[in-house]
Amino acid sequence: MRMMIHGGFFTESHTDPETKLAKQEALKRIILQGYEWLQQHSAAETVVKVVELLEDDALFNAGTGSQIQRDGKVRMSASIMDGHTRKFYGVLNIEGVRHPVRVAALLKQEEDRVLGGEMATEYARKQGIEAYDPRIPQRIQEFEAKQKSHGTGTVGCVALDAQGYLASATSTGGKGFEIPGRISDSGTTAGNFASPVCGVSCTGVGEDIVSVALASGIVTRVKDGHSLKEAFRRGFEELKEIDGFAGAIGIDHQGNMWHQDSHPSMVFAAYDGETLTLFQ
Ligand code: ASP
Repeated sequence: MRMMIHGGFFTESHTDPETKLAKQEALKRIILQGYEWLQQHSAAETVVKVVELLEDDALFNAGTGSQIQRDGKVRMSASIMDGHTRKFYGVLNIEGVRHPVRVAALLKQEEDRVLGGEMATEYARKQGIEAYDPRIPQRIQEFEAKQKSHGTGTVGCVALDAQGYLASATSTGGKGFEIPGRISDSGTTAGNFASPVCGVSCTGVGEDIVSVALASGIVTRVKDGHSLKEAFRRGFEELKEIDGFAGAIGIDHQGNMWHQDSHPSMVFAAYDGETLTLFQ
């Protein structure tokens, strides 16, 4: 069993040691808790649980603490990909829920697997998901000062379970100050993808990630016979060609774990049951 999680790209890691430490502590706590959960649950169930924990931590830009869009509203996006069943579930620009990834998971009972905007929110309500305001004072202050936040990051988890199945989940509050209605990569297969051979979760500039289909591209290269490391190298080479800005974590079916970023500022953690590695 293997697990990797990330706390996003747009971090204060370099400038603010306190935030960096707090994020590392949060990642450590969450990956250990998530790995515990993985003992009894499938990868597909576990990535939802872990991303919920990350969404609850206001240090990250997902769920509670999400960034605010240009019109003052928080719109969140999240997705899950079950590598075993090869099904993708997502919500884009959902509002007023505590756990966007939970709503994506509810779509497992539907034929329709990706919902967007107001109708995604309405669907959540119909499913009994309570109204919740994910804004925190810090994000409101940043919004009022019309400043972009630099202290938060998208979250993601990739897990390989005891059966050898992979899954990935990613959740975000977006870039902050975007045009309302903008689509984040985190709710698409460009930012979050898994198959029987590999799972990948991305963070960074959604437009760049979508332009090179980063997550699905890496997974496809592994399927086509490249090592995980080489698949990442090629994916990030394409990103460089467009001067893109992103980071990603990935696990293959043999249990190899890898990460890469275009700029060294992604916070993430990896755990194989014995060794816990904290990055950044
Ligand atoms: N990828 C996210 C987006 O563009 C932002 C991030 O990863 O921080 O919406």
